[in-house]
Amino acid sequence: MSDCIFCKIAAGEIPSTKVYEDAEFCAFKDLNPQAPVHILLIPKKHISSLLELQEADATLMGKLLFRGQKIAKEQGLGESGVRFVFNCKDDAGQTVHHIHCHILGGARLSDSFG
Ligand code: C5P
Repeated sequence: MSDCIFCKIAAGEIPSTKVYEDAEFCAFKDLNPQAPVHILLIPKKHISSLLELQEADATLMGKLLFRGQKIAKEQGLGESGVRFVFNCKDDAGQTVHHIHCHILGGARLSDSFG
């Protein structure tokens, strides 16, 4: 999608600090980190949010979860713990409408969901 900031990051048109990339995914450090480790993992394919996923995306999203596992372990979170978060639409605070998985860790995270 031409006006999507995460599509532009995936294409290298906007700078980011990438920690992982392959043909289908990339992961980069969040510009406004909410934890010592805060990475965003995205599919390069533009999907607005988890609520717009199609059955045809099932394999892609399964792979995304395994990429998330790999990145979390590489970041040293495999033993201490990690939170994977998908915000979807306004009430959840989604601000970028390209599906992304927040990978958060490196400290004891708040229990708050509000
Ligand atoms: O789930 P939500 O849509 O709120 O998260 C978007 C995230 O993308 C924010 O944490 C924001 O800091 C991050 N962001 C970024 N680089 C950009 C634009 C947004 O890391 N260029």
